Amino acid sequence: MRATELQQVVVLGATGSIGLSTLDVLNRHTDRFALHTITAHRSVKKMLELVLTYQPVQAVMACPNAAEELASQLPSESPTRVIGGAQALIDAASAADVDIVMAAIVGFAGLRPTLAAAEHGKRLLLANKEALVSAGRVFMEATRTGGATLLPIDSEHNAMFQCIPANTQGRPQSAGVEKILLTASGGPFRGRRRMELVNVTPEEACAHPNWSMGRKISVDSATLLNKGLELAEACWLFDCTPNDIDVVVHPQSIIHSLVRYDDGSVLAQLGNPDMRTPIAYGLSWPERIEAGVSPLDLVSVAKLDFEAPDLDAFPCLRLAQEAITQPGGMCVLNAANEIAVAAFLEGELGFTGIDNVIAHALESVSSSEPESLEAVENLDGRARVCAQERIHQLARDTGGV
Ligand code: NDP
Repeated sequence: MRATELQQVVVLGATGSIGLSTLDVLNRHTDRFALHTITAHRSVKKMLELVLTYQPVQAVMACPNAAEELASQLPSESPTRVIGGAQALIDAASAADVDIVMAAIVGFAGLRPTLAAAEHGKRLLLANKEALVSAGRVFMEATRTGGATLLPIDSEHNAMFQCIPANTQGRPQSAGVEKILLTASGGPFRGRRRMELVNVTPEEACAHPNWSMGRKISVDSATLLNKGLELAEACWLFDCTPNDIDVVVHPQSIIHSLVRYDDGSVLAQLGNPDMRTPIAYGLSWPERIEAGVSPLDLVSVAKLDFEAPDLDAFPCLRLAQEAITQPGGMCVLNAANEIAVAAFLEGELGFTGIDNVIAHALESVSSSEPESLEAVENLDGRARVCAQERIHQLARDTGGV
């Protein structure tokens, strides 16, 4: 970072739930941060609003036609340059005058720009867990060789990051960490039996009890697949195995995760469920800045409950636990899940069909640990084709699962 200047920030996925929360935090600290670039896929209307409000240097639309449309709607005196295309996202994330990149594109689509930020040594705020989980070793190697500072934005991993001494994050056992406790809200269907999940609708699945999030992660939360992605994410971030991590359902989402030490101490990070807390910590670490989050009132929370996850009703977590141990397994699982969730949201697949499609892909797609970006993309592509075929087959056989 250039010492006396504002830190230049790129927000990938600015029109999404994490993107908007990031812009809110940045806007509270215009004395520290300047908005270099915001990006979106093709939401022109939302992007236009953001450009007019925040006046970034650049606005990038992944879809070139959307970029043209946005440019045509901006007033001629706007200081913002509009660019289109996938390469423009990569260029923005790796630009020499950029200090901080918020990776908040949803899904595998975020991999290339996120990886570019890692390779170019940025302070990388990682919300886009699908990128890390799919590209695992390739991603971590890019972070290491690029000299990037990787800061987890997922509230659970941000909590772990806060509870493990900074100089031992890559080898927590050396700091006396005995177990990481990854908390899960349980999602909107917690307590239901599998039979009761067959006919749930996308609207019900997206109605998360505690968090307001994008539709894809909301469905992942409802299936518990999100917890599987987070398990893999924690393994990469903190150099540990699934055996070092227990998943605990905590429906109030007040404790964001815990770390148990050899001496019996358990450290936890608590706070209201508001993503602006981990975003602010990622932006300012090792300092802390105001995030606009209301103070936690434990008396009104009153009760903190805990239970074990129900892997019979929600087999996606078990599938992830197995996939983590298979070379390339999480890349296959993630790709199959993205296809299945999109089909569920389109009404082409039932809720319980999601784990069926993932299990089928894990059984059918042969994989080894991908050692390059091309190998990751190849594996992801093969898993997508397999998942799509399974969805068609299910539709033919049963009219959907
Ligand atoms: P949203 O769906 O709300 O937003 C997604 C963003 O990505 C939008 O800006 C969207 O643009 C953009 N985008 C979608 N597809 C593409 C594409 N093909 N190319 C370029 N940009 C694209 O997602 P969330 O904010 O909920 O989640 C973002 C990431 O953060 C996910 O990986 C999620 O798992 C993670 N996360 C989210 C949390 C949350 O509270 N929401 C919590 C923890 C992690 P457009 O509007 O044009 O479609």
